[in-house]
Amino acid sequence: MASSGAQIIDGRALADRFRAEIRRDVQALRSRGGSVSLDAVLVDGPPGPDGRNSARTYAESQKSGCAELGIDYRLHVLPHRATYEDIAGRVLLLNADERVTAVMVHLPLPEGVDPYRIQSLIDAGKDVEGVNPANIGNVVYDRSSLVPCTALAVMKMVDSTGAELRGAEVVCVGASNIVGKPVAILMMQREATVHSCNKYTRDLASMTRRADVLIAAAGKANLITADMVKPGAVVIDVGINRVHDPATGKKRIIGDVAFDEVRPVAGWLSPVPGGVGPVTVAMLLRNTVDAARG
Ligand code: NAD
Repeated sequence: MASSGAQIIDGRALADRFRAEIRRDVQALRSRGGSVSLDAVLVDGPPGPDGRNSARTYAESQKSGCAELGIDYRLHVLPHRATYEDIAGRVLLLNADERVTAVMVHLPLPEGVDPYRIQSLIDAGKDVEGVNPANIGNVVYDRSSLVPCTALAVMKMVDSTGAELRGAEVVCVGASNIVGKPVAILMMQREATVHSCNKYTRDLASMTRRADVLIAAAGKANLITADMVKPGAVVIDVGINRVHDPATGKKRIIGDVAFDEVRPVAGWLSPVPGGVGPVTVAMLLRNTVDAARG
C-alpha cells in the first residue's frame, strides 16, 4: 500500500540538534580544563571554474563551524607542489604534538600522492574523519572507533526516523570505502539484512525494491526512480551531483534520488541539499569532541 507521502528528514534541523549537544560537551570539557581543537592539513590547489578553490571554501566553513561551538581550528596550508614527504611530515608532526587532539587531511591531494598512504599515517585516536585503516577495521570489529563521518551521518538519519534495523532489509547503492562499505558494515552490526550494490549489479531495481531502508550513494543524478522504491521505505540520499538547471541556466546540486517522484512512495526521504551534508559536517565535530575526550 502506497504511503500518502514521505516525511522529510530535515538534515539541517538534525545537525542543529547535534551541534547543541556538541556545544554542551565542549563547554563541559573546557570547564574541566581540557581543550578541543581540530587541525586540518590542506594542499593548496588552483581555483575551480567558479574562481574559487573548493577545498579552501570548505576549510573556511569548517573554521566558522568550529568557532561557533568553541572548538579551536588550525588550518595548515601546504603549497600546491607539496610532495608525499611534505604532507606526511606535517601529519607526523601533528601526531606528535600533545596539544593536537584531532587531525584531518583535506582531499584532493596532489597527483601522485596516494591518499591511502597519508590517511594511514594519521594517529588513529586523532583521525576524526575515520579514514585510517585501523578505524575502518574497528568498524568491522564493532569496537569503539572514530567512524567515517558520512557513514555515521547516514546511521543518525535512519535512527531519527525510529526505523527498526534488526531484521530489516537494507540496500546500499554504492560501495565506496568512505560511504557505501562502512554504512553496510554498520547496518550489519545492527543485525539488518544488507545488500551492497555497485555499478555492476544486475537489475538494480529488483534489489532496491526489497529495501526497507535504501541508501543511495552512487553519485549518479536521479538514479533512484519511484518504481525502484518500496512503498513506505526509508530513503537516504547521499549523492551530490552538480547539474545544469535549464530553468535558471545555472548549476545546481541534486542527489541520486529523483526526489519529486519518489516522495509520494517513500515513508521517509532525505533531501539534497539539506540532508546528509549538514549532518556529515556535524559528525566531524562530534568526532572531534570524542577524540579530545580520548
Ligand atoms: P565513489 O565514486 O567512490 O563510488 C561510487 C559507488 O557507486 C561505486 O561503488 C560504484 O560502483 C557505485 N555506482 C556508480 N554508478 C552506479 C550505478 N549506476 N548503479 C549502482 N551503483 C553505482 O562514491 P563516494 O565517494 O561514496 O560518493 C558517492 C556520492 O556521495 C557522490 O555523489 C558524492 O559526492 C556523495 N558524497 C556525499 C557526502 C555527503 O556528506 N553528503 C559525502 C561523501 C560523498
